Amino acid sequence: MKTYDVIVIGAGNGGLAAAATCARAGLSTLLLERHNIPGGSASSFVRGRFEFEPSLHELAGVGAEDGKGQIEDMFTRFNADVDWHTHDSTFRLVVPAKEGDKDAFVNENGVSVTIDARMPVGFESFARKLDELVPGSYESCMKAFDLSERMFKAFECLDDLKKLPGSIKDLPDIMRMVSHTMKETLDALGMPKKAQDIFSTYWCYMGSPGSKFDFLYYMAVLHSYVKDGTGIPRLRSHEMSLAIDKVIRDAGGEIWYNSEVTKVLMKHGKPEGVVINGEKEVYGKYFICNSSPNTVWKDLFTKRDIPEKQLKMLNTRKIACTLTTVYLGMNKTKEELGITDYSVFIAPDSDSDKQYEAAQNYFSGYCIINCLNEIIPDCTPEGTCQLFLTTMTFGDVMKDIKPQDYKRFKTKVAEDMIETCEKALNISIKPHIEEIEIALPPTFARYLNTPWGTPYGYMLEKWDSMIPRTVQYLQDQPFDNFLFCGASQERGDGYGCAYYTGEKAGGIVVKVIEKEGK
Ligand SMILES: Cc1cc2nc3c(=O)[nH]c(=O)nc-3n(C[C@H](O)[C@H](O)[C@H](O)COP(=O)(O)OP(=O)(O)OC[C@H]3O[C@@H](n4cnc5c(N)ncnc54)[C@H](O)[C@@H]3O)c2cc1C
Repeated sequence: MKTYDVIVIGAGNGGLAAAATCARAGLSTLLLERHNIPGGSASSFVRGRFEFEPSLHELAGVGAEDGKGQIEDMFTRFNADVDWHTHDSTFRLVVPAKEGDKDAFVNENGVSVTIDARMPVGFESFARKLDELVPGSYESCMKAFDLSERMFKAFECLDDLKKLPGSIKDLPDIMRMVSHTMKETLDALGMPKKAQDIFSTYWCYMGSPGSKFDFLYYMAVLHSYVKDGTGIPRLRSHEMSLAIDKVIRDAGGEIWYNSEVTKVLMKHGKPEGVVINGEKEVYGKYFICNSSPNTVWKDLFTKRDIPEKQLKMLNTRKIACTLTTVYLGMNKTKEELGITDYSVFIAPDSDSDKQYEAAQNYFSGYCIINCLNEIIPDCTPEGTCQLFLTTMTFGDVMKDIKPQDYKRFKTKVAEDMIETCEKALNISIKPHIEEIEIALPPTFARYLNTPWGTPYGYMLEKWDSMIPRTVQYLQDQPFDNFLFCGASQERGDGYGCAYYTGEKAGGIVVKVIEKEGK
C-alpha cells in the first residue's frame, strides 16, 4: 500500500498552503477535506441571484505598489492566479451617542454620534486624519507606525532564530516591547485615549481587546492595511481556494474531497496513518493538521495516545471569539440604499475593552457592515447589491438556547443587527431584502469543525501571544511527524496568518524529508 510523504488533514487556508508547499517541493502529498470544496472559511455560497462571500471582509497584504504584500507574494510564489480588487481606504468607525454624551455631534448621515472616523490609507494621511479628529495624536500615531515598520525585521528573526544574535542589537526597542499590550504601548507613546480607541478599531480582527493583545501583533495587521489598503478577490474567497487547489494538482499532489479524517492510526507512539469516513485507511510519514486541536484530540485520538502537554494546553487556552453573520441580497443598489463605505464598524462604546465585556452576551450592539459592491460594483445583478453584517461573541453563548427556541433566537439576532445598522447609518434595509442567510456559531461549528464554531482558534493573551507561540512552535507540536497549522497556531486567526502557518509547517516537513535523503 502506498505511503504518502505527507498527509494534510483539512483544506482550509492553512491546509491548502501546506499541501501546495509540499507538493511543489516534489513530496507525494495527499490533502483530505470533509467538504466537497476547498477553503474552509474561504469559500462562497449562492442564494437566489446572489453569490455571497462567507467570511472575507478585508485582506491585508494585497495590492502593495511593489507587489510585496504578504498574501499576494505567496500567490505569486505559488504561481496561483487571482484577480485582486483593491480598496484605498481602511475603516469607518461610527459610535452612536448615548443620552447625555457631552461630546455628541450630528454626522453627515444626520445621526448623533461621539465618533465618526473614516480613516484613509497611507501612514501620513492616517496620522493627519487622526490628529484632525483628536488633536495632539499625530506624533504618537507616526511613532507607532515607525515601530511597526522596524518590527517586521524582528518577525524575520523570530522565524529564524539563528539570525537573532546578529540583528538583536539593531532592534533593542522592539525586543523591549514584545511583551507589551496595545494599550500599554499606546499609553507609553502618549496617544490620547479617544485616538487610541479609533486606532484600535481592528481589535475585533484579533478577537482580543486592547488590554490583552500584543501591540506587535495588532500593528502587523494595521500596518499592512494602512500601507497598502485592502484587497479582495473578484470571485469571492472561493477564487483563492480554487487557485491553490490547482497549484497542488499541477504539482502532482492529490486532493480527496468528501473525505473526513475520523481517526489517526498510531504505531510505536507516533501517527502512521488516518482513517477516512470511518472506512478507508491511508498511510503517511508526516502529517499536517488544519483541524482544530480541540476537535482532533476529542474525535481522532484515543485518550492514551494524547500527549500530556496537549491536554494541558487545551485546558489552559481559551477558545477565541465566535461570529454571527447576516448575508443580505438587496433589491436596491448601494446608492439607492445610501451606503457610501465598504466597511463600517458600529460600536456601542469606543473602548475595545468595554466592547469585549459587552460581547460576552448576545447581542451587544457591535456590528460591522460591509458592502462588496463598493469594491466590486458588478458583483451582484444590475439594480441590486449585497450586504454582510457581522457581530462577535465570546464564550459558549449558545448554551442556554433550547433547540425549539433556536429559530426564533436566530431571527431576533438578525433583526437586532439589521436595526443597529439602520439606526447608526440612518438607512432603510429591511424593506429591500430579497435574500437573507443567517449564520450563528452552530453554523460555523458544523462547517469548520471547530469548538463553538470559532474561526479564530485560541484567544491571544499576554501569556500566550504571537511571540511566545512562535518561539515555542516546534516544542508545542504533539509528535515529531505531526504538525498543526491554521488559525489555532502561532499567528492566530486571519487569512494571511493561516496561509503563513501552512506554508511554514509544509516548509518544515520539506526540509526534514530532504535531510532524511528521501
Ligand atoms: C464570518 C467570518 C469573517 C472573517 N473575516 C476575516 C477577514 O476579513 N480577514 C481575515 O483575514 N480573516 C477573516 N476571518 C478569519 C479567517 O477566515 C480564518 O481565521 C481562517 O480562514 C482560518 O483558516 P484555517 O486554516 O484555520 O482553516 P479553517 O477555515 O478552519 O478550515 C479548516 C478546514 O478543515 C476541514 N476539516 C476539519 N476537520 C477535518 C477532518 N477531520 N477531516 C477533513 N477535513 C477536516 C474543514 O472542513 C475546513 O475546510 C473570518 C472568518 C469568518 C468565519
